[in-house]
Amino acid sequence: MNFLQQRILSEGIVKPGNVLKVDSFLNHQMDIALLDQIGAEFHRRYADKPITKVLTIESSGIAIACSVAREFGVPVVVAKKSKSVNIDGDTYVAEVESFTSKKKHLVVVSKKFLTAQDRVLIVDDFMANGYAMQGLISLVESAEATVEGLGIVIEKAYQEGGWRMRNLGYRLESLAIIESMDPKTGEITFQTQE
Ligand code: 5GP
Repeated sequence: MNFLQQRILSEGIVKPGNVLKVDSFLNHQMDIALLDQIGAEFHRRYADKPITKVLTIESSGIAIACSVAREFGVPVVVAKKSKSVNIDGDTYVAEVESFTSKKKHLVVVSKKFLTAQDRVLIVDDFMANGYAMQGLISLVESAEATVEGLGIVIEKAYQEGGWRMRNLGYRLESLAIIESMDPKTGEITFQTQE
C-alpha cells in the first residue's frame, strides 16, 4: 500500500453520492509534506517527458499543481471558472459539468499562457466522470499545445473518466485508484498497482 492509500484509509470519509472526503489533508486543510510526496511521485512517473507547463482547474487542483510544477521547474497555469465568455477573444474557453453540483460552467485560460510550443502535464485531485479533465484537454488542444500526460491523485475506477481517457489514448497516471467504496460501512478498496 502506498503513502496515499494509507492516508485515504486513515482519514478519508465516504459520503453518499460517490463522494470521498479528503479535506483533512488534500483540499481544505492541506498536508504540505504529503503534497511534496505527490509532486515527487508525478515527477518520477513523467521524468521522461519534456514538460513545460502544469495545467489544473481551480480550486482544489492548485496546491497539487504547484507541488508538481516545482519538481519540473515550470509554471502552473490555472483554468479559471468564469461566468461569461470574454468577448475580446484573448482566452481559450471550455465547458465543464461539475461533479458535485451537476451544473455546467465555463473554464478559461489566457492565450498568453498556453501556446503551441507547450508540452503540458494536466493534474487534478480527483477523476470521476472525466468532465473536468475533458475540459482541460480541450483548452490545451485549442492552443495547439501537446498533452504529454494526465496526473490524478485519486481516481475512482468504477466511474468512467479514467477508462475514457485511457481509451482516447492519453497517458493517465493515478496515484491511488479506488475500486469501490461503501458509504454505509465506510469501507474503501483499492485497485492493486505495481
Ligand atoms: P469529474 O469531472 O471527473 O466527474 O470530477 C472531477 C472533479 O470533481 C474534480 O475536480 C474534483 O474536484 C471533484 N470530485 C469528483 N469526485 C470527487 C470526490 O469523490 N471527492 C471530492 N472531494 N471531489 C470530487
